[in-house]
Amino acid sequence: VRIVGENNERDGWAVTASNISQVVEKFATKLERLGIATSLIGSGFFAETTNLFNGNVSTPAMLSVRPRSETELASIVAIATEAELDVSIKGGGHGVAGRAVHGTIVIDSIYFDKLAYDQSTNLITVGTGVRWADLDSYSSQFGVVVPGGAVSSTGVAGLTLGGGIGWLLPLLGLTCDHLILVRGVSGIGEIIELNDRCHPELMPVVRGCGHGLAAFTEFVFECRSLPSSISAGSIYFSINDAVDVINALMQWSPECPSHINYSPALIWRSGKPILSVDGVAFSSSTGFGDVIRSVVSAETIGSTVRDRTYPELQSMLDNPLRWGQGCCWRSWFGERLLTESQLESLVLGFSKGPKNSDCMVVFERIEGAVREPRRLSSYPFRSAVNNVLIVAAWDRVELRDCGVEWATELVNSLGPSLEGTYVNYSSEQERPSFDLANGALDQAHRFLDPANTFAKSRPC
Ligand SMILES: Cc1cc2nc3c(=O)[nH]c(=O)nc-3n(C[C@H](O)[C@H](O)[C@H](O)COP(=O)(O)OP(=O)(O)OC[C@H]3O[C@@H](n4cnc5c(N)ncnc54)[C@H](O)[C@@H]3O)c2cc1C
Repeated sequence: VRIVGENNERDGWAVTASNISQVVEKFATKLERLGIATSLIGSGFFAETTNLFNGNVSTPAMLSVRPRSETELASIVAIATEAELDVSIKGGGHGVAGRAVHGTIVIDSIYFDKLAYDQSTNLITVGTGVRWADLDSYSSQFGVVVPGGAVSSTGVAGLTLGGGIGWLLPLLGLTCDHLILVRGVSGIGEIIELNDRCHPELMPVVRGCGHGLAAFTEFVFECRSLPSSISAGSIYFSINDAVDVINALMQWSPECPSHINYSPALIWRSGKPILSVDGVAFSSSTGFGDVIRSVVSAETIGSTVRDRTYPELQSMLDNPLRWGQGCCWRSWFGERLLTESQLESLVLGFSKGPKNSDCMVVFERIEGAVREPRRLSSYPFRSAVNNVLIVAAWDRVELRDCGVEWATELVNSLGPSLEGTYVNYSSEQERPSFDLANGALDQAHRFLDPANTFAKSRPC
């Protein structure tokens, strides 16, 4: 809440530390008179709206709203701006930093659920309340795809606005590289539509640094052809072979053809640390298992590799049980391959770390198509070849400090990385990087949200 001085009253609104509850109630009454669904803290859909993937997020929110149209959304934002109330916007609720619920007012995008593919233009319109599972099932019917992430319950909104790293990255690029138009409501309640022709200075900010830039309602993506076949799954190795296997896969990475992608991950299975090499071979006569076995000589201890549909690929790493656990993510983007000693310290640090089955260390291949972006974006790590994502998780709050300390120590053990963190993985305290020059980010904020109504939803 931005507190204004006693004499700063405007149109009957004057938020102070002591009257904030009354101002929010007055705001809610005004919206209800317009027929807009609202829930004050402790009532109706408030708890559902502020419930996030990361159970460690606390919210200062006092009211949730569920607009059913852009007109309703515009009224909400205009009235909130007049009342000087902070607003944050929630998509799929997977942002680990919890910025979706950092405002006093939370806008839930649940009713922005449009999905419409136009075969003649090969464009797909997607509402910002849609999750990847629904988009992937819908687009697959037409034999097309928008490259997404690797977990189907994430929201299309947050993942796209932050960049979007997934299995199709080497072949097709980032999710945001396919975003060509956005609609929504500005920070002063105007309905807006942005595209590269009319707004060449704004679209690169939306692509990669668009969280909370405006309240977006719809995206239009360019679609790509769905690969003709998909062989995908996980291949398991003993933790004793982890350093050799990851090292071999990393050395191979620069030559790896773009229709193959893989991501080694240190995980816990039945209380034991193991290495899982997750990945996919698209449109290939060689299955993913055979591809990996041709690069790695260690014995495998299990495999889930099989032919899959695209939605099956996109949900193969889903784990609904993780929703609501406390977690902390640390990521480390590097321009060079990790050395054997860095790998050894990660494997040792993981094995000695918290035994929560959701703690993990994921090695993501970044090199590939992202060096040649299809469209300008503020994604900052074009020069990175890999990312190490360290995930600490805890099911009891008293284990929180131990988890955070473990993840922080492990990431620090890797030494300096490219500065900052990837906005989609950043934790509350971390500063994400943005690769835009000439103050483009500040200009976009001033233009789209001059009153800073959405500032709490933004990562910077
Ligand atoms: C289990 C898990 C798996 C993940 N896998 C991947 C992956 O494979 N690849 C990848 O790149 N990332 C991945 N992520 C990170 C994920 O992409 C980001 O956390 C993303 O921001 C989530 O989007 P959301 O809509 O679900 O989240 P939310 O928490 O709802 O939103 C995230 C941010 O976007 C803003 N926002 C949401 N909707 C709008 C809107 N309509 N207008 C303006 N701003 C909005 C919010 O205010 C917030 O700042 C993963 C995260 C989790 C928890």
